[in-house]
Amino acid sequence: MTGAAAAIDAVGVRKAFGDIVAIADAGVRVERGQLAALLGPSGSGKTTLLRTIAGFEVPDAGTISIGGRVVAADGVFEEPERRRIGMVFQEAALFPHMTVGKNVGFGDASAARVRECLDLVGLADRATAYPHELSGGEGQRVALARALAPSPEVILLDEPFASLDKRLRESLREEVAEILRTAGASALLVTHDQEEALSLADVVAVMRDGRIVQSGRPEEVYGHPASRWVAEFLGEAEVLPGTAVEGIAECELGRFPADRRLGGAVELVFRPESLTIGGADAPGDAPWARVRSTSFFGHDQLVRLELESGQQLQSRRLGFGPWHPGDEVRVWIDGPVHVVPAESAAAGNGAHDDTVAAGVGAG
Ligand code: ATP
Repeated sequence: MTGAAAAIDAVGVRKAFGDIVAIADAGVRVERGQLAALLGPSGSGKTTLLRTIAGFEVPDAGTISIGGRVVAADGVFEEPERRRIGMVFQEAALFPHMTVGKNVGFGDASAARVRECLDLVGLADRATAYPHELSGGEGQRVALARALAPSPEVILLDEPFASLDKRLRESLREEVAEILRTAGASALLVTHDQEEALSLADVVAVMRDGRIVQSGRPEEVYGHPASRWVAEFLGEAEVLPGTAVEGIAECELGRFPADRRLGGAVELVFRPESLTIGGADAPGDAPWARVRSTSFFGHDQLVRLELESGQQLQSRRLGFGPWHPGDEVRVWIDGPVHVVPAESAAAGNGAHDDTVAAGVGAG
């Protein structure tokens, strides 16, 4: 036992393929018993980082420790089979000529341990079945049982639900998270699916252009995005231009607290569910807006609005509100507002966005 050592501690990892820098400088830490998600758009370097942790790639720089043991560093490289990791891929990759039980026991697990792991994934009665007799979801649960059987330090999952249809994906991912928690396993899940990462993980590391641009609990990264890019990547984001002076950012919807280090042009970023629509009940200084269009989605409604300046915004309201195109309404923010430097709007240029302030509307 290595005491409080993290399940995974990767620091300053870099990996290039020729001219392509897949990981520029990335670090990720997964505590024992934690389920962490590495979330980023396609090509951001998630799989490469996971493969480097697994030992399928040799990093150009950086240090990787698993369970407190350094497995990759300058002059150190431990082969994947010695790293005490379990892997689950997009496809279950089971041996077709072996029964479920034999597949799970492949890494020399005892018969009792195989039973225990099949029980854990709810497939105790399928030990004698062959892979072709399993559904896609069952195949992935067997793959998970196989990864858990040797009691690895950490389980690495690379888009394990991507090949399943939406309904199965949603139910299986809940199940897998539950299984990992019951097993007390430490796990790192690679996904490009925001909902998957936010709903399952204890910690989400958001990756962009080979770097981790923010990591934290799901509610932290969603509720307090470090940049406009993170806000827009994680969900719907409304953006208003503004000006910051001495810790106050001013925009068309009022004044909001900002980081004192910010000055000049800024952007105020908030979720459409934080933009409230009203009439006589509006705060005194709430500006007028014109309703451009509405879309009803059943449990909520999206109202597209235009402020006096021509600035367009969207508000997401629960239920069905009485708004129609052309209506004049008053709007105000009731929820977190994140004030970020205006230049962070230059998404896609690979810049490492700076973390700035977050605050709640000051009216
Ligand atoms: P996806 O979700 O599409 O799998 P990702 O975030 O996992 O994307 P990676 O697969 O790690 O991203 O790829 C990061 C970058 O490195 C991409 O530009 C990719 O083309 C490049 N890359 C990855 N592996 C190799 C390789 N073996 N040889 C050359 N380039 C590679």
